[in-house]
Amino acid sequence: GSDLQAIRTIAVKKGDKYIVNGSKTFISNGFLNDLVITAVKTDTQAKGWQGMSLLVIEDGTPGYKKARKLEKIGLHSQDTAELVFEDCEVPVSNLLGKEGQGFIYLMEKLQQERLVCAVGAVAGMWGVLEMTKKYLNERVAFGRTLSKFQHIRFKMAEMYTEAELAQTFIDRLIEEHLQKHDVVTETCMAKYWTTETLKHIVDDCLQFYGGYGYMEEYPIARMYRDCRVNTIYAGTTEIMKELISRRIPI
Ligand SMILES: Cc1cc2nc3c(=O)[nH]c(=O)nc-3n(C[C@H](O)[C@H](O)[C@H](O)COP(=O)(O)OP(=O)(O)OC[C@H]3O[C@@H](n4cnc5c(N)ncnc54)[C@H](O)[C@@H]3O)c2cc1C
Repeated sequence: GSDLQAIRTIAVKKGDKYIVNGSKTFISNGFLNDLVITAVKTDTQAKGWQGMSLLVIEDGTPGYKKARKLEKIGLHSQDTAELVFEDCEVPVSNLLGKEGQGFIYLMEKLQQERLVCAVGAVAGMWGVLEMTKKYLNERVAFGRTLSKFQHIRFKMAEMYTEAELAQTFIDRLIEEHLQKHDVVTETCMAKYWTTETLKHIVDDCLQFYGGYGYMEEYPIARMYRDCRVNTIYAGTTEIMKELISRRIPI
């Protein structure tokens, strides 16, 4: 969830095993996976982010259950599952990195995960715009193709401008990220802005399809459902704004 520090799954060391108890509700590819990297509290007395560790838990480990495949409104090509750990016995050798450093490891990788989301959102913008442009040149109303209506042309002009802005921004961030610069604030900006922008672009493009946009046989309908989650996972838009506002000098 948004409050990563509130993780309640615990791992208690007994001999050469950690005994893990807890659950995780939304895990992408949770059913298909052969192993999961699980954030657990190894020090239950530690406050906040401290005392968290990462354990590699393999499929078939006693006490590890893939409890439920969740029914989603979109992203049907990828499963999302609920995982449960009940007295799950994990060898101590499956500890990833050092004990107690789990939260720091997660933070170190979040910049990349959010950047990947932004890259996906920008790719989605180009994809939906090109697809819609093609449709606008085919569909005829009032004796003209839809592409001839000024309102539609202006909306397309606006959305192509947004896609160009987004592209320029993420190109810069990818470059800086590869140079190992700290672009956490800018990545939060990119994650929230590109995913929100994709959401509105897909919605506006769907409108241009009229009733066909609401039909499953047109890929725009699937894009509409699939893109909705982008502003939620990998940190919600609200959490991104929270992080940005903490880091900019107000
Ligand atoms: C399809 C899918 C796949 C996922 N895959 C994974 C995965 O593989 N691994 C993984 O770890 N997680 C995964 N998640 C979980 C995802 O990251 C969380 O759903 C997301 O971070 C939001 O947490 P939450 O659902 O608990 O919502 P909550 O934290 O309960 O938030 C509910 C609402 O309150 C708002 N809110 C919360 N705190 C604040 C605040 N301080 N200020 C303002 N608003 C706030 C949120 O923005 C949101 O709008 C997945 C989720 C989905 C839907």
